[in-house]
Amino acid sequence: MDSPEQAPQSSDAAAEEELPPYRIEKARSSRSRCRTCRRKIDKDKLRLGVLLEGPYGTGYLWHHLTCAAKRRADDVEAAYAQHCFEDELELPPIEELRALREKAEEAKKNRKQAPWVERAPTGRAKCKHCGEPMAKGSFRVALLREVQFGQQIRSAPINVHPGCVAAELLAEDCATEAEGFAEQVRANSRDLEPAEIEAALAEIGEVG
Ligand SMILES: [Zn+2]
Ligand SMILES: [Zn+2]
Repeated sequence: MDSPEQAPQSSDAAAEEELPPYRIEKARSSRSRCRTCRRKIDKDKLRLGVLLEGPYGTGYLWHHLTCAAKRRADDVEAAYAQHCFEDELELPPIEELRALREKAEEAKKNRKQAPWVERAPTGRAKCKHCGEPMAKGSFRVALLREVQFGQQIRSAPINVHPGCVAAELLAEDCATEAEGFAEQVRANSRDLEPAEIEAALAEIGEVG
């Protein structure tokens, strides 16, 4: 953990105690790290500082302005409303940052977690386990499979027949655990009624 970057020094001790709760500025170096995404904040990138008064002194904890817009909208709104930046600083309009947040929340809502069960929207896709088509309207099960992207290994969801789940869970590159499988499916299958989920689990049968 890096320590909060020193707040600007002031010759007037009384003024120092009244640091604004936020500060938006261009990063003065590339040394600070964004507390939201954990990545480095490059020099001259816009950053939002949130004042922290701790036992070791007072300073700002920094976030990329765009990261803050997505995850700490209230702080960004307050920093804009209280004009916590130099007059000459060129900032994106607040509407732009609000739009960023809306997009991020939309993406989050759409990001499903595997394993889940849903109904196949078309009959065109094939089961990634056996290669046979999956009938339109039938249950299909999303499992995680490790996929190599260049040098990186990531998990990506694949769709399989309910009857292929038990075998796929045994595959070496399967990243979904058989343990607790039914509980996870019940928690993640947001598009189905509970009775349908149970019907799908019955089709899947015993796993692990
Ligand atoms: Zn960030
Ligand atoms: Zn199959």
